Amino acid sequence: MAAFPEAVLLAAWEAALGFAGVRRALALAVAGGAEPASVADLALGRRDEFLLALRERCFGTTYPCLVTCPACGEDLELELTGDDLRASGGTATTAGYEVRPVTSRDLLEVRTRRELLARCVVSAPSPEGEVPAVALSTCDPQADVRIDLDCASCGHRWTSPFDIARYLWTELETHARRLLYDVHALATAYGWAEADVLAVSPARRRYYLELAGKTA
Ligand SMILES: [Zn+2]
Repeated sequence: MAAFPEAVLLAAWEAALGFAGVRRALALAVAGGAEPASVADLALGRRDEFLLALRERCFGTTYPCLVTCPACGEDLELELTGDDLRASGGTATTAGYEVRPVTSRDLLEVRTRRELLARCVVSAPSPEGEVPAVALSTCDPQADVRIDLDCASCGHRWTSPFDIARYLWTELETHARRLLYDVHALATAYGWAEADVLAVSPARRRYYLELAGKTA
């Protein structure tokens, strides 16, 4: 893997650290280049494109995944690419209902799925009707990425949702904690400042940690 900008990674992790759920996804989107003032009003799929961009800047375009087959319990390792995780959409019409994509602000402000559906209707054939839930995923496929899977062990086929915010956060947490451990260990051993440690390449850092007897 090419050297990724570790200062960017640490800054993104820190910006999202105090948040969870939708607010964490928003913080990560801003770290990925989204405009802070308007990010909550972006369609979820558009917001998630900033998460994909940030993820690929930090860790590259290959997404290793570990999934468990729901039929036989076998663990399957697979590698997705950025292309597997990208879709396109816009407003869509289902059964006469025209709906717009869901935004983060919608998720922060509604309490029920029914409220969410009602809020996203642009035009309806009748004021009383029930909005079809499928309309939302049709108009913003990037907000509802699903991966087709098949088990090499038992042949079972299924689809699994892919949540870029959760995936990216798990990776950021793991890498940021490892980096902070390196900074702590090397600062203690050699009296270096954080910037000094981050300026040393990961390969040389491992070597210095070995010499200092600090490998975890
Ligand atoms: Zn299986």
